[in-house]
Amino acid sequence: MNILIVYAHPEPQSLNHALKVQMIDHLRAAGHSVQVSDLYEMDWKAVLDRHDMMSKDPSEPFDPSLDSKHAYESGTQSIDIAKEQEKSLWADHVIFQFPLWWFSMPAIMKGWFERVYAYGFAYGYGEHSDTHWGDRYGEGRFSGKRAMLVVTAGGWEPHYSARGVNGPIDDILFPIHHGMLFYPGFQVLPPYVMYRVGKMDEARFQQTCTELFARLDSLETTDPIPYFTQNGGAYDIPSLTLKSDINPQLSGFSAHMDER
Ligand code: FAD
Repeated sequence: MNILIVYAHPEPQSLNHALKVQMIDHLRAAGHSVQVSDLYEMDWKAVLDRHDMMSKDPSEPFDPSLDSKHAYESGTQSIDIAKEQEKSLWADHVIFQFPLWWFSMPAIMKGWFERVYAYGFAYGYGEHSDTHWGDRYGEGRFSGKRAMLVVTAGGWEPHYSARGVNGPIDDILFPIHHGMLFYPGFQVLPPYVMYRVGKMDEARFQQTCTELFARLDSLETTDPIPYFTQNGGAYDIPSLTLKSDINPQLSGFSAHMDER
């Protein structure tokens, strides 16, 4: 398999860095081709702005969506964006690895999504009509590919449980899983989350690597999170709300999962 690791941590002596090295070695030893986008090391530009569009007339107002579409279609995107798009198309599987910072990914990785996911590349994809709102949520540019988050968190696991003070980890990661990965077509695997990592020691590190390797070894066989696809019949059109007989007892994030 071709595997892309998109990685965000600023410190080469960090736990995340050590885990990334372990992952790369393990995947390559298993015969996979691995590319890494180490965003801090690449000095990745985190902000989407007019400088991403090489042919943009500086006297014209900047439209983040339409200008990204034009730049994507005309081949005038910033080269760093085009390279990351190529890598994501090359990959069968993309792993996003990061420390949980303020209940989400570090800003530099959010900027990877904002800039690489150009209009026409990751959204605005497929037929858009009154009856078909694009190929998205289970279909799209990344159809046939899989993605997984590898996340470290300072907080304790019970703090992220169903009634934990931080809110359930599945809810916290829902905007990434459903909005940023399932939307453009990835099948999204359950995340590998490490809690209370300030208490890491050598023995726990070895145990963590063993668990992580098991997840890497089953990338192709692990069942993805069973989100309803947008165009699979679960949603009313054009409201795109779940049909009344689908998970009638649920609302919010969990309603979008097909647990039947
Ligand atoms: P490090 O600090 O590098 O290491 C953690 C521990 O692992 C240390 O004890 C270190 O000695 C040990 N270690 C490192 N390498 C190895 C190795 N090779 N072998 C064995 N042990 C090793 N947490 C939350 O839960 N929720 C939040 O919303 C949140 N927001 C944050 C926001 C910010 C801005 C910051 C800075 C932190 C936040 N945190 C939050 C905490 C954050 O998630 C953790 O600090 C981070 O996950 C730790 O990962 P690290 O790679 O930086 O670990």
